[in-house]
Amino acid sequence: MHKSHIAIIGGGCAGLSAAAALVERGYTVTLFEASSQLGGRARTVAVETNGLLHLLDNGQHILLGAYQETLALLKKVGINRKKAFLRIPLQINMQSGTAKSVFSLKSFSLLPAPFNLLFGLLFCKGISFKERMAALKFMQGLKNTQYQIVRDVPLERFLINQHQSKRLISFLWEPLCLAALNTPIAKASTRIFLNVLRDTFSGNKKNSDFLLPRLDLSQIISEPLSHYIQTKGGNIKLNQRVRRVEVEGSGFNIETRNGKEYFSHVIIAVSPARVEKLLATLPKLNHTIEQTQTYQYQPIYTVYLQYPPGVRLPNVISGLSGAIGQWVFDRGQLCDQQNLISVIVSAEGKHQQLTQDELALRVAKELNRAFPALSKPLWHKVIAEKRATFSCKPNLERPTNKTSLPNVFLAGDYTYPDYPATIEGAIRSGIYCANLIHNA
Ligand SMILES: Cc1cc2nc3c(=O)[nH]c(=O)nc-3n(C[C@H](O)[C@H](O)[C@H](O)COP(=O)(O)OP(=O)(O)OC[C@H]3O[C@@H](n4cnc5c(N)ncnc54)[C@H](O)[C@@H]3O)c2cc1C
Repeated sequence: MHKSHIAIIGGGCAGLSAAAALVERGYTVTLFEASSQLGGRARTVAVETNGLLHLLDNGQHILLGAYQETLALLKKVGINRKKAFLRIPLQINMQSGTAKSVFSLKSFSLLPAPFNLLFGLLFCKGISFKERMAALKFMQGLKNTQYQIVRDVPLERFLINQHQSKRLISFLWEPLCLAALNTPIAKASTRIFLNVLRDTFSGNKKNSDFLLPRLDLSQIISEPLSHYIQTKGGNIKLNQRVRRVEVEGSGFNIETRNGKEYFSHVIIAVSPARVEKLLATLPKLNHTIEQTQTYQYQPIYTVYLQYPPGVRLPNVISGLSGAIGQWVFDRGQLCDQQNLISVIVSAEGKHQQLTQDELALRVAKELNRAFPALSKPLWHKVIAEKRATFSCKPNLERPTNKTSLPNVFLAGDYTYPDYPATIEGAIRSGIYCANLIHNA
């Protein structure tokens, strides 16, 4: 057992993964979570409608085969991948408002990467031969330059310079950008988008697989992690918002409503929107505060629509073209929530001016146009995450995990510089902080 006692502030993916990596090595860990449940931005909420309780995720999440650290961590804490996820080779089926499939792309799962995608592009439906060739040439060019660019610019501008047509952008690159970066394509960072493409379409062909949660998110992430941490002696304190972190001798006092506790190390694993307050009382961290103060945020709305019996969409996941809703999931096929459909509305837009009921109604109408067999939903529930992710803009400065104050570390999706806000980035950052402490 080590003498250090480590405080982790925040019980999202980053804080939980840091705690799991530390208890595994015999460290004494106390994790403080402000809310009454763990999981942060990847959690399950209990929603009551018509007297019935439903377990719904705060957002319909998609993981990728390329999420190596996430998948390794979940395996370690006992998650059975086949039970937890529906794994499907990358496929994009865009449906229009006139019930037509306007674009479809399916990766060739038998071929190695990147040929699985290149052949997918070659045979995709809905764009001209010239457009398919432009997409292939673009992917080949990226491979030749190892997905690197000299100067980061907004993705839309970059794609236009790369001769990607309007249709190609709107059927393929824009939906991918919204799904990965949750930032409008006119503002999104090309460099970060290319990092995601690189990790998804190079290396193992399974990297581009979609992993769609079959169980609710808390069952897959926070519950097994918290069980693992506590079994190995870690202490998890819920409803314990940390108010202040103060330097005290060679360690730190952590202040909550229950008083102060002393620790040798602190990992601050809260979202960037919340980090400033915690750093304010710590000397030398002004630069980190200045960096996160420049951040802007993007919303994600998840619209759940419950239909009368008999609903089965042509695909578990479909895209909507020219609509407010972007990705549609048939949760009956996915996770046995029969006749329940979830629709993701990513990033900023005019839909933010609608009330939640108006938004649900609009999305239900869009669904009805794309899938005419759908009748009127019995009920709906909109879960709005107003600050779901940071805006992933070009050249966004990211704070490092190691701060200029010894033994104070930052974890969280925003600190993993290669990626947009993702579960994988959060988990990698947490594990990295644990490694920094262990290897010091
Ligand atoms: C709707 C939605 C959909 C998403 N879809 C995807 C997806 O498909 N794929 C993907 O990879 N990612 C997705 N993401 C992003 C992903 O969920 C996040 O990147 C990840 O969960 C962030 O984890 P984190 O630990 O960095 O931060 P958080 O999850 O924000 O965790 C921070 C924790 O700190 C706690 N906290 C804050 N202040 C204090 C304090 N003072 N004291 C104690 N505790 C405190 C918070 O309550 C919270 O639990 C989505 C996010 C949302 C919201």
